[in-house]
Formats: sequence, structure tokens, C-alpha cells
Amino acid sequence: MPPMTPEEFLIVKEILAIPKNIVIVPHRNADGDAIGSSLGMYHYLTAKNHRVKVVSPNNYPDFLKWLPATETVLKFDYQNTQSRRAIDKADIIFLLDFNELSRVGSDMQGYLEKFKGIFIMIDHHQQPSDVADFLFSDTKICATAQMVHHFIENIEDIDLINQETATCLYTGILTDTGSFRFPNTTATTHRIIASLIEKGADGARIYNNIYDTNSYGRLQLLGQALKNLKRVDNYNTAYITLTEEEKNKYDFQKGDTEGVVNYALSIKNIIFGAIFIEDKEQKIIKISFRSKGNFSVNQFSRNHFDGGGHDNAAGGRSEETMEKTIERFLDLLPQYKDALNNSYED
Ligand code: 5GP
Ligand code: MN
Repeated sequence: MPPMTPEEFLIVKEILAIPKNIVIVPHRNADGDAIGSSLGMYHYLTAKNHRVKVVSPNNYPDFLKWLPATETVLKFDYQNTQSRRAIDKADIIFLLDFNELSRVGSDMQGYLEKFKGIFIMIDHHQQPSDVADFLFSDTKICATAQMVHHFIENIEDIDLINQETATCLYTGILTDTGSFRFPNTTATTHRIIASLIEKGADGARIYNNIYDTNSYGRLQLLGQALKNLKRVDNYNTAYITLTEEEKNKYDFQKGDTEGVVNYALSIKNIIFGAIFIEDKEQKIIKISFRSKGNFSVNQFSRNHFDGGGHDNAAGGRSEETMEKTIERFLDLLPQYKDALNNSYED
């Protein structure tokens, strides 16, 4: 899929020159980048005099609920009537931080499929599907929030970025780059961050709001996760499990397991990490995969666990029990032995 052309940006710029009803949709179980880019876009479009609503498929973690305008976000699952009304009225729907409509969940997907207006997708995941009228996709960029900044640049509206927009976009970039440490954090990323700070984003305050607001239970759950960590040394692999019972014991809240998978990768020589989290409500094991070097967890998850994402960070799911899922995972490793042992070679 070629990148969005200057001509297409010109068309979008003309469309956005007149006030419209706009809905912004992040993916289900939104993370910092999904909500940061959605609310960043919300503040930008509001400053441009559009009537804007963010409609999230479901709830998102409390550590994001200080972002400016978080109180205006509709949740499609439990504010269904209001959400549908916003979608019915919309001229344009932005799809942010996801690559296929199924990522919003089946109910909302069904509703969005009936939408007759303009879809604009902005995303950095691999293999975007063909649902949008305008697709701004770049898998090399670290965060959708950075792409929203590029989008605003391309519409020639940098001057409309205010402190609220800057705070939200900063948050998206901070969280999706693992605090500016993942390899796709470039000089351009840092230049954008510098410009967001100049617009009023307060990096220390944002970091504190996101990372230093843990509950006691969350840290206890992390302790349990680290106890459950297992190495599979022949394959440079490590994985973590968390059962529903363990989650309940430590008063699990949405978002509590975010980032935990990275501990698997923090062991010396481990290049493939995974976390398997039992979800009795959805009746699945939700899986996060992470890797270093050129072992593609996007491909691994697509091939075996009904998921996808990026080369070094992907998600997936299993409908089997925890035991069966782990057994299947371990049984798959031998066929990847070469890739797992040579992940830093081309
Ligand atoms: P996480 O492991 O943090 O849930 O997700 C890692 C990355 O993979 C994120 O960019 C996320 O959007 C993507 N991802 C997570 N789960 C899925 C999935 O089931 N399907 C696809 N296509 N992408 C996923
Ligand atoms: Mn993202």
C-alpha cells in the first residue's frame, strides 16, 4: 500500500476546511498510544472548529484517565445509544492505531461497517486492511501519535497544536516507545517531542501520571508474574503466565498487566518474550509477544495465535486452556530454532 500522496492530503485538507461532525475511534482495549493519538486528534480538530467525539470500543486503563478531555470519551459497549448516535451523525470517522476493523470488537465492527461517510485510517501496524477512503499507514513510525503529528503537519496546521494536543501526542509517543527506548525511536521522534514540549507538554508530569500511579495490588501482581516467569534457554525465550485466580487475588484492574511482558525480554540473551493472561470473561487466553532483532512476532502470532501487530510487539489469543496453550507454544519453538538463535543476523 503506497503512503498517502500529497494530492490525497490536499483533498483531506479541503474536506477539513469546513466544520464537520467527526468521530474518532481507537482500538478495543486501548493503550496509551490509541487514547493519546485519539485525544490529540480530538483537541486538534476541536481547535479547527469541528464537532468531535471520541468513541472508544470499551473502557481503558485508569492511568490514562487524567488526559485532557478523557471525560468526554464515549464507550461503545456501555454508552451504546450515545455512541451510535454520534456515529450516525458523523461525516468523517478517523480510525486510529489499528489496521483492521475487527480490532474494535464484533458489535462495533458491525455498526461501523454500515457507515456511509468518509473513513480516514492513521496507523503504524503491518498489513493494513482496505477499509478506509484515506489510509495514512507507515509501519516504520514508532507511534500513531507521531503519525497524527505528521498528519497535522501535512494539513499545514502546526500552529493549531495547543497544550492539550501536545500533552496527548506526547503521551502516545512516550508509551509506544517504552519511554523513548525502542529502536524505532528516531531523531524525528525526538524533534517532534521537543516541539510538543515547546507547545506546553510537561514530560515529567506526564511520566508521573502514567508510570508512578501504581496501586499496591498492581505491584503485588507484578511480583506474582515475575515468580511465574520461565526460561526456555535453548530457544532464547522466556514467558510469563497469569491465571484468573492470580489476577483476582491481587485485585486486578484493567491495564495492570501492561508492560509486564517486557520483563521477559530484560533477561540477558532472551530475544523472544511472551505473557499469557487468562480472561474468563472473554473465555480466552490473551497473549502478548515481544522480540528483539529480526524475529517477527507479528508473523508468529498471525501464523499460530490469531493475532498480529508489529515485528517486535504483537498480540494474539488462544481459546484453549492455559495448559494447552503453553504446551502448544512450547511445541512450536523447535521449528523457529534457527531464527531464535540468529535474531541479530540477516
Ligand atoms: P499488546 O501485546 O500490547 O496487547 O499489543 C502489541 C501490539 O500488537 C499492539 O500494537 C497491538 O495493537 C497489536 N495487537 C494486540 N493484539 C492484537 C490482535 O489480536 N490482532 C492484531 N492484529 N494486533 C494485535
Ligand atoms: Mn500504537
